[in-house]
Amino acid sequence: MDNKYLPENRPESGSTKTINKDHLNKLEWGQAFDPYRMDSDKLFWHRDRLIEWASGKRIVPLHIDMGITTGCNLGCKFCYGVVQSRKGFVGSDGWISTAKTEGKIESMPIETIIRVFDDAKRSGVRSINIDGSGENTLNPALYTALEHATRINLDMALATHAASIKEKNIEKLLTNLQWLRINLSAATHETYRIVHQRDWFDKVVKNAKLMVEGKKKHGLLNNKGLETTIGFQMILTKDNFDDVVPLAKLGKEIGIDYTVIKPISDAPDNRLDAPFEKYLDLVDTFKEAESYSTENYSVIIKWRKMGNMGNKRYGKCHGTKFIIAIEGDGSVFPCGHWFDIERERFLLGNVNVTPLSEIFNSETYWNTQNEILNVDLRYCQANCRQHNANLTLWDISQDEKPKKLINSTIMPRPEPQHINFV
Ligand code: SF4
Repeated sequence: MDNKYLPENRPESGSTKTINKDHLNKLEWGQAFDPYRMDSDKLFWHRDRLIEWASGKRIVPLHIDMGITTGCNLGCKFCYGVVQSRKGFVGSDGWISTAKTEGKIESMPIETIIRVFDDAKRSGVRSINIDGSGENTLNPALYTALEHATRINLDMALATHAASIKEKNIEKLLTNLQWLRINLSAATHETYRIVHQRDWFDKVVKNAKLMVEGKKKHGLLNNKGLETTIGFQMILTKDNFDDVVPLAKLGKEIGIDYTVIKPISDAPDNRLDAPFEKYLDLVDTFKEAESYSTENYSVIIKWRKMGNMGNKRYGKCHGTKFIIAIEGDGSVFPCGHWFDIERERFLLGNVNVTPLSEIFNSETYWNTQNEILNVDLRYCQANCRQHNANLTLWDISQDEKPKKLINSTIMPRPEPQHINFV
């Protein structure tokens, strides 16, 4: 842990000291240009919701990150879920206290999941990513739930380590998901063992190959008549710098659609040891990795997040009004940062006992969403899920005529893929 990354030593969020553009320019820092806008957001493709927000209306979120299990069977060294005491395997080298991670892994019941999907769709939520603090493929209800989402025309995605997916279930993934992201932060067995703490590299690669085969050989398409986008996501730790370029190559060889490299979303006390400064030394590596991109395969460096040293250019968090999080135990929060801290202050409700639409309409929901505006963001997770949305929303909120700005902004062409995943 490095003291300079502790909240009290960080520049105030929203202050000009958070901006290190000149330094990055000297380094010839890059910029992501990919078909998914992964290092940015897609809020302007939802102008109706933006205008409602700018008019001070009580809006329904566009997107939910939803967990359907409370635990995992891998112990990835960068995992924020471990910090938040998700249950299950942690690893053996004592990298983090295991006391709170002990206990049974619980699965969210199918009835709850379906009720959430139905309620979300009816309320105006436009997408759900099954991505929580645990490994959601451990809940066998996942596949039935995804089929239900297709029936009600709700856009779904899945983030997974992919090592526990059985071959017989791959077809269900490829016919019911808009995209699937595989958490693979190594290009060799050796690095995989260090970063993910099990010897499962081959299982992951095998399943990625089966997914590509399902699309290319068997022609499987999702409910929109499109191939499910398959990608690798590497979280860059101090242990896998040498794997960036090899992973970019591996993704290309296998035939997936993209490989994305991003920084650790670290806890405010730098417990996950994000090497923010070292990221800045990797310009050549990142550019070499990008050179493996083709028309059909993107290597995406999250340059914006990678270069910000974990600081926040925005002074307030408006992103939780557009993107919320549901934990595997059914708790609903403005974002995943509060799963294990200040729960009473930020808990919005629990979908096991209260319908989501009722939670959206409750005074607790709006009081809590407004309480988020009082948070000192230096004490938040670095580069959290809402980070890019927050940059856009902050700029809009600082404009004299926010509604005019929303209506007059010209969106880049072509339209990015998966616009409902803001
Ligand atoms: S971690 Fe902080 S900045 Fe990020 S969404 Fe949560 S409250 Fe907002």
